[in-house]
Amino acid sequence: MKGFAMLRIGEVGWIEKEKPVAGPYDAIVRPIALAPCTSDIHTVFEGAIGERHNRILGHEAVGEVVEVGSEVKDFKPGDRVVVPAITPDWRTLEVQMGYHQHSGGMLSGYKFTNSKDGVFAEYFHVNDADMNLAKLPDDIPPEKAVMICDMMTTGFHGAELANVQFGSSVAVIGIGPVGLMAIAGASLRGAGRIIAVGSRPVCVEVAKHYGATDIVNYKNGDIVDQVMHLTGNKGVDCVIVAGGGVETMDQAIRMVRPGGTVANINYFGYGDLLPIPRAEWGCGMAHKDIRGGLCPGGRLRMEMLIELVRYNRVDPGKLVTHIMYGLDKVEKAFMLMKDKPRDLIKPVVIVN
Ligand code: NDP
Ligand code: ZN
Repeated sequence: MKGFAMLRIGEVGWIEKEKPVAGPYDAIVRPIALAPCTSDIHTVFEGAIGERHNRILGHEAVGEVVEVGSEVKDFKPGDRVVVPAITPDWRTLEVQMGYHQHSGGMLSGYKFTNSKDGVFAEYFHVNDADMNLAKLPDDIPPEKAVMICDMMTTGFHGAELANVQFGSSVAVIGIGPVGLMAIAGASLRGAGRIIAVGSRPVCVEVAKHYGATDIVNYKNGDIVDQVMHLTGNKGVDCVIVAGGGVETMDQAIRMVRPGGTVANINYFGYGDLLPIPRAEWGCGMAHKDIRGGLCPGGRLRMEMLIELVRYNRVDPGKLVTHIMYGLDKVEKAFMLMKDKPRDLIKPVVIVN
């Protein structure tokens, strides 16, 4: 079969590989809808998780099950499924500790491209199918559903980590697809004011749709000054970091109020240290929580998010600005994600 792969750091291309084989608990899936992620870009071009040779890329997919192992109970060939970006081994101590994302070691729930081939291929392998796949309802189109696998679970996790409460003031730094879903998640959790930080007009419009009340353009001066000005120098209750470089952690800590929470969902692809501003962190005593997390995956998380889409609590389809047809188009979609033209939020490839 063919797949679109990271050949080495900085280089991508099409390769031929053997079709994957299902173990007793696994499934083999063929893609129906695929999307590239900014994380794929960090992985390839910044070498953020180290070298990977001829490793198939991609971790956002809706697909059709073509084969299941002998122990799989709830799925059969022909089922249409949403595949989470994070597909942990569910029989580990980390799962019992409540951190399935780190099942088997830090970030090890992130398997596609990280420790095995990803989804940008004619077929891909899903471990522990009963625990990691979710059925796609007929009334959700694949191009919308593929936004659930990673964008929705990650953005919503930002709102969870930031502990958004009814009436909380929230700043979301970065309003690409991840930050936009963080705004939608914060809205659903009952946020009051939501300050969105970004510059692309297409993203600004969608940010307002999902509930942003104020827009801050980082190209118009220091974002800490702008947020402090908007809040009468009080700062916000919660900051969700979903874009920009390492400097955004410093900015987030400066703009959150004492006792507030900074939640990072960015994937920092470079730099050895993240900055913490000493004075604004109260010389270490400001009770400003700093948190960060990999998105939740697995079947239940997907099923819960599918319910939100199905009952129209949120429409992640608003993220999709470009739709292309045919597996070959994965390369074009991937390069769009790298180059980020001003009219792009998220491209989707439909495979028949
Ligand atoms: P995008 O590149 O599409 O969006 C980034 C956003 O950050 C844009 O709104 C951009 O503004 C803004 N931005 C850029 N520079 C600055 C700056 N200096 N100050 C403030 N804002 C800035 O990224 P995605 O939404 O696709 O992904 C966001 C991050 O989330 C990535 O690092 C990605 O790898 C990560 N990620 C993490 C996951 C997790 O599990 N934690 C899962 C999936 C993704 P502009 O409008 O100008 O473009
Ligand atoms: Zn991703």
